[in-house]
Amino acid sequence: MLYADIVLPLAQPLYTFAVAEGLTLCEGMAVAVPFGRTGNNIYTGIVWRLHDRKPDSGRVRTISRTLYETPLVDRKQQAFWEWISDYYMCTLGEVMRFALPSLIKPSGSGEAEFAADEFCPRRELFLSLDGEAKSGAERPLLLERLGRRAPRQREALEQVVALTGADGMVARSCLTADRAALAALVRKGWLIQTERVALGPGALPAACFHLPELSPAQLEAKAKIEEGFASRSTVLLRGVTGSGKTEIYMHLIADVLSRGEQALLLVPEIALTAQLIARLERVFGPRVIAYHSRLTDRKRAETYLRLHNGTGGELVVGVRSAIFLPLRKLGLIVVDEEHDASYKQTEPPPYYQARDCAVMMAHLFGCRTLLGSATPSLESYLNARSGKYGSALLTERYGESQQPQILVSDTIRAVKRGERHTHFNKLLLDRIEETLAGGGQVMLFQNRRGFAPYIECRECGWTPRCPNCNVTLTLHKGANRMVCHYCGHTESVPTQCPHCRVTALTPMGFGTEKVEEEIARIFPQARVARLDRDSVTSERAFRQIVETFAQGASDILIGTQMITKGFDFGGVELVGVLNADNMLNNPDFRSSERAYQLLTQVAGRAGRREMPGVVIIQTAEPDHPVIGWVVSDNYEAMAGEVLAQRKQYFYPPYARLVALRLRHRDPGVLRRAATALGGALRERFGRRVLGPTAPPVDRVRGEYLADLLLKVEAGASFERARRILRETLERLSRMPEYKGVKIFCDVDPQ
Ligand code: ADP
Ligand code: ZN
Ligand code: ZN
Repeated sequence: MLYADIVLPLAQPLYTFAVAEGLTLCEGMAVAVPFGRTGNNIYTGIVWRLHDRKPDSGRVRTISRTLYETPLVDRKQQAFWEWISDYYMCTLGEVMRFALPSLIKPSGSGEAEFAADEFCPRRELFLSLDGEAKSGAERPLLLERLGRRAPRQREALEQVVALTGADGMVARSCLTADRAALAALVRKGWLIQTERVALGPGALPAACFHLPELSPAQLEAKAKIEEGFASRSTVLLRGVTGSGKTEIYMHLIADVLSRGEQALLLVPEIALTAQLIARLERVFGPRVIAYHSRLTDRKRAETYLRLHNGTGGELVVGVRSAIFLPLRKLGLIVVDEEHDASYKQTEPPPYYQARDCAVMMAHLFGCRTLLGSATPSLESYLNARSGKYGSALLTERYGESQQPQILVSDTIRAVKRGERHTHFNKLLLDRIEETLAGGGQVMLFQNRRGFAPYIECRECGWTPRCPNCNVTLTLHKGANRMVCHYCGHTESVPTQCPHCRVTALTPMGFGTEKVEEEIARIFPQARVARLDRDSVTSERAFRQIVETFAQGASDILIGTQMITKGFDFGGVELVGVLNADNMLNNPDFRSSERAYQLLTQVAGRAGRREMPGVVIIQTAEPDHPVIGWVVSDNYEAMAGEVLAQRKQYFYPPYARLVALRLRHRDPGVLRRAATALGGALRERFGRRVLGPTAPPVDRVRGEYLADLLLKVEAGASFERARRILRETLERLSRMPEYKGVKIFCDVDPQ
């Protein structure tokens, strides 16, 4: 008897099923299996291992049937899933649940419901050559004969010959030839018509790309990258903003596609704009496949299956989840803006870091990985410096474009001199006015959305707080609501303080919405737009705001992080950072690195064409070292100083971290469980365990939270540490007194 260990899309271990006589299976195949107490529920599972060992306990159920003709997950993907599950401490089922698009893995109670849930790709008519038309020797004669008697049929046949792909097929929808002529050719036996699943554009056009010519500096960087790839699987490209990293990527991608291999270009979520896709499509045409979170479930499933059936030669441009696509002929992964925090998954598990996964994939798949950034993460920088990665450098902007001039504007001094108007120093207001008068565009960056972070009673100090989470509510004036940014809870704004009944509720601090209102008041003639999570309610809204600004139909764009990434707006001459202080003073070991990256990226939006750009940073701490490094554009000084601190205090890249978070409704149970776990871990890890502590927001959605941190120094075995951690967690989860305490492990937290 044959048995199969099956992965189910659940946070559970593998389950063993019997393979019915006559069912042909191989590893990686998707199958339908009965599951649950009654066995009435049917799930999609993946055959992980086949063997002949009967499980010793319980009744063994039998696999119902197979789905899809070929394995849905190949050997390399299997190895990748196993690595993810081991490294990020989750089950293979959790990897499957996240990695496969929902429509690919139907489920249901009962076979009928399961079948109804199954994905039916669109079908389309395909034509292939047959008879005399198929034979290279006889075809010229046939064409000549047709040319005399039926010129339209000859034309049609010629078109089919020209467009038939490597698989011998051409989709009828791709042909412009006369329908009646095609039908006649089918009738006479020179063409065969078949109905087949239609996924993507079918056969790809020949690999002939119109690439932008590279500048000497870009050519040199490209040569350095190739030199690096000769002996290493990963290379770091550090290139200042506007240096044309994208152009270098295009050249490398073209080489890979010409070899019939695939390329994967990873970008941060919000950088994946219509602007970038259009730029790539101009070069790579229908080979470009976009993959992001705004796709419909159907499109997601179609993309997966298109690649599953694909022949190679595709370029996938996607966000972090694209690493789970079936790229069987992957030659190159490019991770653009590799320092970006959005490569880290926060929810649901696996809590993977897509950049780190891309480096791992280069090993597992035998492909190459290029990391690109103007401000690399210190992890990657150190790996390049130590020679583990190859490295290449681009220090100048492309063409006439110059690095922007950066001015620091001291807010405290401005207040003292009476040169501060609400949230703007006189310098910034003057420059905005000048820029607008000259016909230039302005971008203003404020790291907070909403109108004001919170409101406060001037009389008694009362502030409205979320009933489910331990945070203050944020005022959104447009909607006249107060919103919890943790759980989404909203309330109307009270007209008077419910505590002391005095009416003075004052907005404190400020967000993008407030900036927009004030700018509109100070510059009533300017056309102002705002880009943040509240103004972007849909893909269309996002595109409209971006395109309007790109075309010069709005003058000032105000935004959060969203405006910092990847945009290439030619008309921006002035960039203002309204308040750098909250970035500088985050209580997080990465805050200096992050502030440097963010400020440099924001500054990089200015002066991307002939007109030189100016950046104004408003801060109460003009002497803060981060401000100095940004102004002098001195990445190396920042890296040197911050790395020295990290080394001294044992933080990444000199240590690896695992953040543990415990959650429970009862604060007493939570505290006891956290203390017990901390104690158990200290027995094995000693001083490498920190906590338990309460996080800054220690209650979310009605549950209390406690944190523990495990620090493993770079020299020690991280694999062994994870094993011990896993065993300790298992032991704790079996103790009845801690029942219901949820524990989350975040390996390499951001
Ligand atoms: P980065 O990604 O490094 O910030 P981009 O690739 O966006 O830089 O390039 C900045 C600008 O310079 C873009 O408008 C781009 O089209 C242009 N550019 C860069 N390199 C070239 C090139 N070799 N030929 C033509 N235009 C280029
Ligand atoms: Zn809340
Ligand atoms: Zn009050």
